[in-house]
Amino acid sequence: MPDAFPTFRQRRFPQVHSQPPSERFRGSARDRGYDARWDRISKSHRRKNPFCVLCEQQGLATLADDVDHIVPLEDGGLRYDPLNRWSICRRHHNTTKRWLERYARKHGMLDQLVGWCRDPDTRPPRCPR
Ligand SMILES: [Zn+2]
Repeated sequence: MPDAFPTFRQRRFPQVHSQPPSERFRGSARDRGYDARWDRISKSHRRKNPFCVLCEQQGLATLADDVDHIVPLEDGGLRYDPLNRWSICRRHHNTTKRWLERYARKHGMLDQLVGWCRDPDTRPPRCPR
């Protein structure tokens, strides 16, 4: 007699294929301490600040993809400090912001990062827009 209820098995993919390469390297958001509290804060921040700050600086209104720590946690930025977060689109997160972080670390200028994020005119030359 056939089963009354067919069994649907969820397809499972190896972990290595379920995350982009950067996530594989640095661990999941949960692994990095992004907890339920952060989820609430992030959601609330984006509700109040829905647009990418870097796009706004160029006169564009682009919905933000993420709430980013202006000073990265690994560089001493505070996870829950309201002044250490901004809404940002994925493109800017992966270009301008990443470039600024690398530049600041390389040149020992992490104390300049907040200013660079707020004021494009203060950024180092060759910083991608
Ligand atoms: Zn943007």
